[in-house]
Amino acid sequence: MFSSGFPVKTEGAPRMKYPNANILQTDELVVNWHITEACNYRCQYCYAHWEKAETRPELWKSETHSVALLKELYRFFSPEHQANPLRRYLTWRSLRLSIAGGEPTLLGERFLAIVNHARELGFRISVITNASRPDVIAKVAPKIDMLGVSVDSDVASINSTIGRECRKGTQVSRSDIAQMVEQARLGNPQITIKLNTVVCAENISNDLSGLIREIGPDRWKIMRMLPVTTAQMSVTKKQFSQFVLRHQGVSVRQTIEDNSDMEQSYVMVDPKGRFFQNEVGGFGYKYSECIPTVGADQAFSQIAFCPATFSKRYADLVPEVGAK
Ligand code: SF4
Repeated sequence: MFSSGFPVKTEGAPRMKYPNANILQTDELVVNWHITEACNYRCQYCYAHWEKAETRPELWKSETHSVALLKELYRFFSPEHQANPLRRYLTWRSLRLSIAGGEPTLLGERFLAIVNHARELGFRISVITNASRPDVIAKVAPKIDMLGVSVDSDVASINSTIGRECRKGTQVSRSDIAQMVEQARLGNPQITIKLNTVVCAENISNDLSGLIREIGPDRWKIMRMLPVTTAQMSVTKKQFSQFVLRHQGVSVRQTIEDNSDMEQSYVMVDPKGRFFQNEVGGFGYKYSECIPTVGADQAFSQIAFCPATFSKRYADLVPEVGAK
């Protein structure tokens, strides 16, 4: 439990991987709800595979259960909830719910209803999509703060090898994505657009500069494939650095995440309403009990979380201490 000194378990607190006593500040705490495992794509490295042993259905299917989860998450992580044990290590001023999957837009009206409930509760909201349902994105865009689009390549053969296509081989093109983003901005001029790229063995030599310029996101997150469910298609640190270097000249705010930046640095909830966390240096996830059943306090104390790595991701949003 105490290998390399962390994670540390203190009574009633989440298992924190945090080496010193200073309280970190971040603008926004992000809770990622992976609302469904269902997806119309079949990316080989996909992280959206959760333990099957639990027979409970995915929570989104029941309005009562999904609202109970949202309420409990908001109560526990609300910036006003001073008793949250995480506050011993980290402070935040707003709370964002990031709805991911699987592919959340496949849930149609239920997805839209969940976004509405979350907004009513007070969450800021982001949605992560593979861009295959622009009709649903056009409907939801006016209600959300950030749209995250997963894009690994603009080369059809590379997308096909990764599995970033429907079973019939249908893919979204660069101009499809640009159009979807334009529509979203028309419906919500305040929306932040973020592109997410997973760097793997298939796209490692790709130059995405043209794609990024055409789409013009506000942010671009570049992640080294984390071998959570498979090591196939993983890349070395050096290969990843070369990819990052190749794109240094693209003038967009970039967030670079190597494997160590992703370990225990996300607050994540699975489709069955459990916190889960990746195993450091290993395959698979660790799970808490179900949040609406035992409460977020107990469930969050059952998983590890590293506030220092989390806040590093948003470091450029954190004001200097004492700044007005
Ligand atoms: S689009 Fe996302 S959820 Fe779907 S298979 Fe690919 S990585 Fe998994």
